[in-house]
Amino acid sequence: MDYDVIIIGAGPGGVAASTKAKELGLTSLTIEKGDDILAGMTASSPPGKSVYPSVPKDSKNEFAIPFLKPPEDKISTEDYVKKVKEEVKNRELKINFREEFTGFKKDGLITVQTSRDEYVAENLVLAIGSSIPRDLSIYGEATPIARTLHRPEDYLGKNVLVIGGGNAGAGVVMSLSKLKRERGDSTVVYWAHRSERFNIDREVARDLGEEILLGGNIRILQGARPILSEVDKSLGERRLMIRTDEHLMGDDVKLTYGMCFPLENVIACIGFKGPAAIFEKLGIEVMVHGNRKGTGIAILDDNLQTNIEGVYAIGGAISPSYIRRTMGGKHHEKVRHPNFIYTAVRDGASVIEHIYNNRR
Ligand SMILES: Cc1cc2nc3c(=O)[nH]c(=O)nc-3n(C[C@H](O)[C@H](O)[C@H](O)COP(=O)(O)OP(=O)(O)OC[C@H]3O[C@@H](n4cnc5c(N)ncnc54)[C@H](O)[C@@H]3O)c2cc1C
Repeated sequence: MDYDVIIIGAGPGGVAASTKAKELGLTSLTIEKGDDILAGMTASSPPGKSVYPSVPKDSKNEFAIPFLKPPEDKISTEDYVKKVKEEVKNRELKINFREEFTGFKKDGLITVQTSRDEYVAENLVLAIGSSIPRDLSIYGEATPIARTLHRPEDYLGKNVLVIGGGNAGAGVVMSLSKLKRERGDSTVVYWAHRSERFNIDREVARDLGEEILLGGNIRILQGARPILSEVDKSLGERRLMIRTDEHLMGDDVKLTYGMCFPLENVIACIGFKGPAAIFEKLGIEVMVHGNRKGTGIAILDDNLQTNIEGVYAIGGAISPSYIRRTMGGKHHEKVRHPNFIYTAVRDGASVIEHIYNNRR
């Protein structure tokens, strides 16, 4: 056996679990697919977004791992991440970055499979969060595409394609357009949505209209579908093709119009899916509404253990609710589980305490 516990994800839940494991003297490895700790939060927060120490109504205002509590005074996500990073550095936690968990086998012990290796552990904690980006479902998906706007300046002097007709897409379009307009940059922000109707709030629509009237260089592509990403050999770069129009020329011939953008100039704001599909793939029991695959919520015991002994799920991955199995598995009840840093930290610490108290 390599480790007492392997933790997947270095968000607040995973960092809390690995900190607790270190405190209790358990051997642990944390696997994080991002470049750094709290990668999930960094990826989903626009620059400058404040982080608050939100606590569920019925809980005490104490964080199970105090250094993970955001200060009461306003702090940006970037500064919060910086502060937590310092603490993690001092604790010398074992975290592998840029390594993706792909699955596990249970045969007495648990063999964890990743993009790089296999590790054997007695316990596995899934702290994978809820922010699993939706696939674009195009041929050649594998290359990563930006999911939000991190450094707007990086897009100056470039024609940008923003995909996704919701509020998130509209926000990115406006931020880019405003910056380009203020800097006298005449490149275009293309905004594409699969259907004819965009899906944004009234206030967002008003702000967008104002941006266009002020001279924002925004072109709207309705009914536009991304279809493939491929390497353009003549230009030597990977590009994404989006279909903008189509005409039937005969019984079996279609004339298709499209636009091609360098992949690095594309931002796909197409939302997130919950981890249910991943749980199902891993053989973790979920309760499904109706017959809709991938929409279920995890069924856990009082210690957040799944139906597979030694495998736990915590934090955002089991928010906003999970099903608690009680009375020897006979009864089920739905438990509210708000998606806060507080909850993820509490789960991470308590699961590790449970593992410690029940070690062989
Ligand atoms: C815009 C925004 C603002 C928010 N503001 C607040 C706030 O002010 N206060 C508050 O309390 N909460 C806030 N939240 C919620 C908070 O971010 C979450 O509750 C918290 O991040 C959950 O922690 P977690 O560790 O469970 O998951 P995450 O933070 O999502 O971490 C999961 C980690 O797992 C990694 N991962 C996923 N899959 C794999 C894999 N297969 N292999 C390896 N690694 C993997 C991800 O890269 C990620 O780093 C906010 C959320 C958002 C989106």
